[in-house]
Amino acid sequence: MFDKVLIANRGEIALRIHRACRDLGIATVAVHSTADENAMHVRLADESVCIGPNSPTESYLNIPAIVSACEISGANAIHPGYGFLSENPKFVEILEEHNITFIGPTSEHIKLMGDKITAKITAEKLGIPIVPGSDGEVETVEQAIAFAREIGYPVLIKAAAGGGGRGMKIVNAESEMDEAYNTTRSEARVAFGNDAVYMEKYLGNPRHIEIQVLADKHGNVIHLGERDCSLQRRHQKVFEEAPSPVIDASARAKIGETVTNAIKKLGYVGVGTVEFLFENGEFYFIEMNTRIQVEHPITEMVTGIDLLKEQIRVAAGEPLRITQDDVVLTGHSIECRINAENPKTFTPSPGDIQRFHPPGGPGIRLDSAMYAGYRIPPYYDSLIGKLIVYGASREDCLRLIQRALEEFVVEGVETTIPLFRDLIHQPEVISGDYTIRWLEEYLGL
Ligand code: ADP
Repeated sequence: MFDKVLIANRGEIALRIHRACRDLGIATVAVHSTADENAMHVRLADESVCIGPNSPTESYLNIPAIVSACEISGANAIHPGYGFLSENPKFVEILEEHNITFIGPTSEHIKLMGDKITAKITAEKLGIPIVPGSDGEVETVEQAIAFAREIGYPVLIKAAAGGGGRGMKIVNAESEMDEAYNTTRSEARVAFGNDAVYMEKYLGNPRHIEIQVLADKHGNVIHLGERDCSLQRRHQKVFEEAPSPVIDASARAKIGETVTNAIKKLGYVGVGTVEFLFENGEFYFIEMNTRIQVEHPITEMVTGIDLLKEQIRVAAGEPLRITQDDVVLTGHSIECRINAENPKTFTPSPGDIQRFHPPGGPGIRLDSAMYAGYRIPPYYDSLIGKLIVYGASREDCLRLIQRALEEFVVEGVETTIPLFRDLIHQPEVISGDYTIRWLEEYLGL
């Protein structure tokens, strides 16, 4: 096992990683930008190193500074969290050269899944059902038109290097194709430095269902069931639950086995999430994330398995101590993403937290780096915390969220807490009968 782990991230996930390391008896090194000097994980870590100014490119994405911090502090491994360098194969290669363990998969697997075109081709070869789409890259607008005629409108043009819900355009008719194709490419060039695009059938009313996997270096792979992340805004998750209200035990076992077999064949190591759209009882692969995800806690709650600890253990070469039969889903869990944003316009609301009273009691978990007096810097993502509830049933969870949100006080900045206070009274949220379109329609977007 590692003696010391460097946490190459910030915010709630940095604190989550610190806690997992502590629970495993591992010392931690926090790296931070000047703006994050007073961050909670920096205060709690055994050591901390300032790696640069506010701008993420000069700090949390600054590979030489992070590698130096690792060497100076003598950390043997780096946990990348999510976002930032977590899916950057070049970073992983550099760590390999410096004999520093990356807590995650190999650079080859990251590369394979980081490009959505090769990811889809690989998934199909491994026996995973995919969304009907182009055979690889669509290189010209003529090809795009020909493909859409074959498959029928609407279609989706997607950037091969896209992520975070960006780099996608819906095309409803041939007359829109020229503009949509060219803008997606030019936007992708600017945002991701890669303008390759591909196309998919645009599914009308699917749910977003993802399967969590865990694999060690000894060929053992298990799945931990699904998360339903259908409540989305701009293709970004807002509220997630496990298990999904629409997946029964036999569907879960079937897709879980398909995914587990594929991951085994791939020789993948670490935690990973295979994402699907689910419509009319069928699963369609969209992508694989090769890192810990924001919404991992709901899986931890219903399985009783600490994903961060397991992720660190398998990276250190330990064999999994859990078999598929040991994975038993109990109860229900829901997560609300709390952003420092106006709950109606979603405009970021950085600033000082003047008053802070977290909710508590049975069934409530708050993964957050907030505290009274904390200043939310304007330079990073607006996610400031995750409210996670765990109850015997979905109905219990909805009641727990209601209670937690009543208790929750954050003053000084605007947050999305009022949005959730409202959402939990909506009939579709109460019944679980929603698709990936529902929230945007409800918000009038
Ligand atoms: P990202 O990497 O940006 O998260 P994904 O490919 O995972 O992109 O897609 C994110 C979301 O976009 C999905 O959860 C879904 O809401 C929507 N989406 C993606 N592909 C399709 C599709 N073929 N049809 C309809 N919606 C889609």
